[in-house]
Amino acid sequence: MGDRAGRAGVPPPRDANARRVMMAQRSVDTRPELALRRALHSLGFRYRVNLPIPNKRRRRADVTFVRWRTAVFVQGCFWHACPKHLHMPKHNAEWWWDKLQNNVRRDEDTDAHLLRLGWLPLRVWEHEVVETAVAKVVEALAHQGHPRAVGIRARSGVVISENEQVLTGP
Ligand SMILES: [Zn+2]
Repeated sequence: MGDRAGRAGVPPPRDANARRVMMAQRSVDTRPELALRRALHSLGFRYRVNLPIPNKRRRRADVTFVRWRTAVFVQGCFWHACPKHLHMPKHNAEWWWDKLQNNVRRDEDTDAHLLRLGWLPLRVWEHEVVETAVAKVVEALAHQGHPRAVGIRARSGVVISENEQVLTGP
């Protein structure tokens, strides 16, 4: 997962907001991931968690459907430079810019790699409403021929309902 990439380097962020974001950052089992996994599980989907992607053992997908060749990445808005919530720390701005750009390039490279192997990469943002993220996963899986996803899509509207919980929570 790219989220881990941001931890390796110096210097530590002096910017208070950046520090808070870093401290809150966990690379495995973040709250958005858990919310998505829980929702998918309740719809009857089975998947692998934090699995290395094929032929790149050091990169991992958050939720993987091996048989259906679909890899889902739940992206933190900070580390993956979400266009809606782009936040550049004021201290060491240039260093941070390089780091975040590297993360974005790495994500693009991972996607291209997966596509070459016949896999479907899917990226959802932590800021997305869980129902929206689930709908995207269902759409991707249906595209890959997953029967349950095809069924759910056929009964469209079933997925996007119930609570309007944002992945990150309040
Ligand atoms: Zn965002």
